[in-house]
Amino acid sequence: MKKTVREAIIAGNWKMNKTPSETKALISEMKPLVSGADCKVVLCVPFVDIDAALNASAGSNIEIGAENCHFEKSGAFTGEVSPVMLKEMGVKYVIIGHSERRQYFGETDVTVNKRLKNALEEDLKVILCVGETLEQREQGITAELVAMQTKIALFDVSKEAAKNVIIAYEPVWAIGTGKTATSDQAEEVCAIIRDVIADIYDSDTAEGMTIQYGGSMNAKNADELLSKVNVDGGLIGGASLKAEDFSIIVKAASK
Ligand code: PEP
Repeated sequence: MKKTVREAIIAGNWKMNKTPSETKALISEMKPLVSGADCKVVLCVPFVDIDAALNASAGSNIEIGAENCHFEKSGAFTGEVSPVMLKEMGVKYVIIGHSERRQYFGETDVTVNKRLKNALEEDLKVILCVGETLEQREQGITAELVAMQTKIALFDVSKEAAKNVIIAYEPVWAIGTGKTATSDQAEEVCAIIRDVIADIYDSDTAEGMTIQYGGSMNAKNADELLSKVNVDGGLIGGASLKAEDFSIIVKAASK
């Protein structure tokens, strides 16, 4: 992690877990544990938990994000939530293109690009997820695949707007499986993504961009993964549902 030039960010992704009352309880438990963090601490929570999360985190160093948003501002899109709504609530971050959205909800690189642009227009910070499946890794196309996902997601996004983009490299085979990429694998792909950013924009933009690793990062492996120069933090699923474990990861990123 190169903390001298870019921000370390540890973000939780709660997925479809926790009710509003559970949200209040978990954030109250987390607050004192992460209060001394020397990195950004973000919790991306289900839409229905946002209000409870904002209230519970008020006055602390925990910022709140959403797990998705729509590509239009408003309209006939039953069941969807727009970034305009998120912004008015006080949400600061939104995850776009998580592999579970791609896998179960028909998300494509093109819709990821549309959602990302819409979120940036509302001044939300976007955590853009990219990553290969096990099959794609075995086919030897990881570099091409993450480059393509990154380029399409950032198509038509200005250099200025890209300052509000964080990329999470999340190998699909490591998400929720307990199988973590080795720190060398994480470093290799995060560095490839940084090169792609330099290619799209320039080296300053690439050097300044926070690139996280996500995929079974936990209290035990965080230190090693975060020791890598191109790994600027983590997107944390399972371990973000446990206050103690999450705080250990936050401490690892604060070093
Ligand atoms: C995620 O949901 O983005 C994730 C990385 O999950 P987990 O940490 O559980 O693998």
